[in-house]
Amino acid sequence: MTKKTPTPSSAAKTARRGKSRQDRAVTLIPGDGVGPEVTTAATSVIAAAGVNIKWDRQAAGAAAFRRFGTPVPDALIESLRRTRVALKGPLETQVAEGWRSINVYLRRTFDLYANIRPTMSFAGVHTPFRDVNLVVVRENTEDLYSGIEHEIAPGVVESIKVITARASTRIAKFAFEYARQHQRKSIAAIHKANIMKLSDGLFLKCARAVAEKHPEIRYQEQIVDAACMRLVTDPGSFDMLLLENLYGDIVSDLCAGLVGGLGLVPGANYGDKGAIFEAVHGTAPDIAGKGIANPIAMILSSAMMLDYLGHPEAGDKIRAATGAVLRAGRVLTPDVGGKASTSEITDAIIRAMKRG
Ligand code: ATP
Repeated sequence: MTKKTPTPSSAAKTARRGKSRQDRAVTLIPGDGVGPEVTTAATSVIAAAGVNIKWDRQAAGAAAFRRFGTPVPDALIESLRRTRVALKGPLETQVAEGWRSINVYLRRTFDLYANIRPTMSFAGVHTPFRDVNLVVVRENTEDLYSGIEHEIAPGVVESIKVITARASTRIAKFAFEYARQHQRKSIAAIHKANIMKLSDGLFLKCARAVAEKHPEIRYQEQIVDAACMRLVTDPGSFDMLLLENLYGDIVSDLCAGLVGGLGLVPGANYGDKGAIFEAVHGTAPDIAGKGIANPIAMILSSAMMLDYLGHPEAGDKIRAATGAVLRAGRVLTPDVGGKASTSEITDAIIRAMKRG
């Protein structure tokens, strides 16, 4: 539980600047569904870790639509432009006419091109696997998420997959830089270039060119279907996965399943000028408001945020306390086999942090 989040070079400067300021402003987006419950848990844990954040609370998604008639109010965008860092709860995807996905909109508006999901087994969470410790690096800005879809004739539609050398190269560079900073040994580029020869072929070509500059990191390639098979038979054989947007979305949920579910896996979206930290899971409408959502994914996302802001020791404290609570197995939420509420596990993590 001691892995640090990556910092692309210019983001690293932001992080260093953040170090000297205890009252760093951060945009807080409680979000929809279980979002307010898990973000409240994360902000309490950050406060208990001794880091003072000036939260700029902003509505987005369905919550904003209900209050302001738009899922993306101007105040939210202004806040993000000002703070450049956000802790964000999940947002409902289908909120209003004309909005495909608020999450995709925010990532593209702020050019948060690298989605990172460190996924590891926790002692105390029973799954068929013990030795998962991998990092999913997902390109966040293009692919089938380009939003270019049209009907060319009744009953015939096209959805355009856009892959560019620029985006493929920068995500590959990010992955290799992350590997270097975090002492990771190998990167597997996941693709379907046997079928999508041009698009996935270009993605691979760019990844290979970057890999050549990092001979110390083992580079391999695997077709996405074979990679999924290997993930559920021998997940410990992967270190880092480098994927386009759609494969990354699917494979990262698969990886979450390997370690006990969506409630445990943190995530971060990095750009060169800012970052948004958020859990991998969605709004979980089936359990929203019941006080039983697992806050760990959001708490670990907030630890990644503290690394980014220049407080890695506080991030480590949170990761260690979270690991200790899971290992003890006495206070667990229902999704991982326990009976505890969101606030009970949050309090247990805070107590574990205080014990050191
Ligand atoms: P959305 O449309 O927002 O993506 P969804 O229900 O399709 O919502 P998730 O919100 O990711 O997708 O939820 C998938 C399943 O995982 C649900 O059964 C949900 O209850 C469960 N789940 C997701 N997050 C958590 C969490 N933090 N704690 C416990 N269970 C969770």
